[in-house]
Amino acid sequence: MNITHIEHIGIAVRDLEATIDYYEQVLGLSCYSVELVPDQQVRTAFFKVGETKLELLEATSPESPIAKFIEQRGEGLHHLAFAVKAVQPALDLALQKNIRLIDQAPRPGAEGLNIAFLHPKSTFSVLTELCERPQS
Ligand code: ZN
Repeated sequence: MNITHIEHIGIAVRDLEATIDYYEQVLGLSCYSVELVPDQQVRTAFFKVGETKLELLEATSPESPIAKFIEQRGEGLHHLAFAVKAVQPALDLALQKNIRLIDQAPRPGAEGLNIAFLHPKSTFSVLTELCERPQS
């Protein structure tokens, strides 16, 4: 799949502002971006930790996948995102290996990345995101 690094770790939260406070005031990290991602009905906050980032996700509607996740499993670790050179060939490879896909093709995610998710039923329960930075 040509994974280069862990792009970010996604964490589902109920209250974005309260959680940002914790990461800033206690852990000493600084939030560099808060972004609405209408496609996923979430508001995200990003922190850099070396080459990796943390992505906090708050639902903006009860229909949001994050709202459903929190309802079933509570707040906490939500997904692991790998940076790849290109998402589509990575999805093709996953499909060849009989991995269930959530996204059949890349779609727009936060930070201008193209993203796609692999289904946790096929990934030993870790919701897995693949991210590519589009060439510009
Ligand atoms: Zn993510």
